[in-house]
Amino acid sequence: MGDYVWMDLKTGREFDVPIGAVVKLCDSGQIQVVDDEGNEHWIFPHNASHIKPMHPTSIHGVEDMIRLGDLNEAGILRNLLIRYREHLIYTYTGSILVAVNPYQLLPIYSPEQIRLYTNKKIGEMPPHIFAIADNCYYNMQRNNRDQCCIISGESGAGKTESTKLILQFLAAISGQHSWIEQQVLEANPILEAFGNAKTIRNDNSSRFGKYIDIHFNKRGAIEGAKIEQYLLEKSRVCRQAHDERNYHVFYCMLKGMTPEQKKKLGLGKATDYNYLAMVRTLREILAIRPVDHVFPKSCLCSESISCMLLHHAQVDPQDVMNCLTSRTIITRGETVSTPLSMEQALDVRDAFVKGIYGRLFVWIVEKINAAIYRPPSHELQSVRRSIGLLDIFGFENFTVNSFEQLCINFANENLQQFFVRHVFKLEQEEYNLENINWQHIEFTDNQDALDMIAIKPMNIISLIDEESKFPKGTDTTMLHKLNSQHKLNTNYIPPKNNHETQFGINHFAGVVYYETKGFLEKNRDTLHGDIIQLVHSSKNKFIKQIFQADVAMGAETRKRSPTLSSQFKRSLELLMRTLSGCQPFFVRCIKPNEYKKPMLFDRELCVRQLRYSGMMETIRIRRAGYPIRYSFVEFVDRYRVLMPGVKPAYKQGDLRGTCQRIAEAVLGKDDDWQIGKTKIFLKDHHDMLLEIERDKA
Ligand code: ATP
Ligand code: MG
Repeated sequence: MGDYVWMDLKTGREFDVPIGAVVKLCDSGQIQVVDDEGNEHWIFPHNASHIKPMHPTSIHGVEDMIRLGDLNEAGILRNLLIRYREHLIYTYTGSILVAVNPYQLLPIYSPEQIRLYTNKKIGEMPPHIFAIADNCYYNMQRNNRDQCCIISGESGAGKTESTKLILQFLAAISGQHSWIEQQVLEANPILEAFGNAKTIRNDNSSRFGKYIDIHFNKRGAIEGAKIEQYLLEKSRVCRQAHDERNYHVFYCMLKGMTPEQKKKLGLGKATDYNYLAMVRTLREILAIRPVDHVFPKSCLCSESISCMLLHHAQVDPQDVMNCLTSRTIITRGETVSTPLSMEQALDVRDAFVKGIYGRLFVWIVEKINAAIYRPPSHELQSVRRSIGLLDIFGFENFTVNSFEQLCINFANENLQQFFVRHVFKLEQEEYNLENINWQHIEFTDNQDALDMIAIKPMNIISLIDEESKFPKGTDTTMLHKLNSQHKLNTNYIPPKNNHETQFGINHFAGVVYYETKGFLEKNRDTLHGDIIQLVHSSKNKFIKQIFQADVAMGAETRKRSPTLSSQFKRSLELLMRTLSGCQPFFVRCIKPNEYKKPMLFDRELCVRQLRYSGMMETIRIRRAGYPIRYSFVEFVDRYRVLMPGVKPAYKQGDLRGTCQRIAEAVLGKDDDWQIGKTKIFLKDHHDMLLEIERDKA
């Protein structure tokens, strides 16, 4: 009685794993247990195989999962669960931090906490996001290398909050409280106002990706930062799913402005605008009262926020009307104006509004960068160091997925590959090269899927791109090409029949089906020449400025301008290159439930996230592996203080031998560290011990 056991209910469900339970009664072969969810079960002798004893480490939980005795999904899950119930939302896997969203404000982010975590080794204090931030900062200075922090997780898992906490910590400890540091912190609310919105999954969902690179001078003070943004979801400006909202800024503006300000700008309240309230879209209204295709022109502008934007565009209202209801086509040198159907006219209006908002967002980020970015002067370049924080949209799989989801999931495949490369591939390659004792650990590699999406010749992205540039290309011809090229690839799922317009991709985080309707249009991302002309005629300097590049291009160049996917692919490549030059830290955010509720832990939802992020294999490799390594020179020079009389590395004849002597003396002969051909390999706790001893010496 009182013993802890694992109970396998053998439900056979994909994401169900054995649950922990405590024995309440043991009576003539029958056992009564109460599981972690509080449910009672009777176990009879004939199904005693359903229960197994629990390892002591699983009973009360561990701070670092590499110490778990029950190294399986059930063990990981229970460890997170029992910690979560005690408000211990952070847990390590080696130096990788797992963060479970508490959905409530915990008193763990105070200035006092910041002080406690400053200048500590990982493991010295309980797991915390501040410990990761402190380590980034410390490593940057100790190793004189750029650091990055890759924060991943589903929508609502807590990526953006984690990013802000790291930023807050870095600003506090870099200790300058300068104007520029303040600007860096204050950039966030602006970005969130324009780039975040309420969705079903998250009340403050980031609808764009961002990489914030924070620059430090040689004294370790923040001297500036640079923000890179990725792929804002523009469609949201015109349309939102049920129970979702437009970007925060619109509601903030309408709520926060004084009546005078609103009057001056000709603004009403949120419910006045279909784009904001989505009570009923114009399309729906028109579908209910039949109208011929010559619809009331006023509908186009008055009902929506486009009015708000167009009102200030300072263009001739008649020109706006013409632009939205007809299209100019030049055939054989002749200019012909053709009327648009209602459907087309609404699309033009939406495209224009999306075009404005997208450019506005890019402009805002540029403006912020102009305030916070200091280009390095030549001599400074070598001493300036940086910490980059990546907060990018998590993997998405909705009922209907479109081109945006393909881009987002493609980005996630890249990040997963970065993780896999860093944690599994490079790590094991190095053990082999250095000839240390090592048992290979299997892992799931997503390289094949990534190859098919964007790397190998005729990859999916390149085919979509090619079809977008092809004048006769349609979504259907594109799908045909994808099929004929990839139908035999195990990561590709072709449509079931000729009528189906979806294809599937087997991503590392599960299969996603993409609806191809609208793919090419979205990828081309161009505005019709009439609209550009309209902008050109505007008296509003700002509107002209954000469309400057488009106007300057001319019609022909515009047609050849890079598609959305090729721009996105390029910015991802740059990002990957930047990340590869850094020492990475990983934060895996976990969303505990779909209801945005505190103290509610949905076991299956969590297992799915842990499984897809490769957490099991990560724990296994982190446990067996040696995350800390030094070249012999580095090691001797850093730790010779721990052994009196040891000379600096350059005066050593037998560096390897000296390393060995220091390690044996400080860490013990039989402990699990190894000496390779050129490096010494250590566990995280060895590093901590060495550093603590060094601080004392
Ligand atoms: P998305 O991909 O949709 O942008 P996200 O991973 O960035 O999602 P966040 O916006 O960071 O998710 O978190 C969602 C919400 O969860 C926050 O608005 C906040 O209410 C809560 N939350 C996240 N992390 C914490 C935390 N550490 N403490 C308290 N609440 C948190
Ligand atoms: Mg976010």
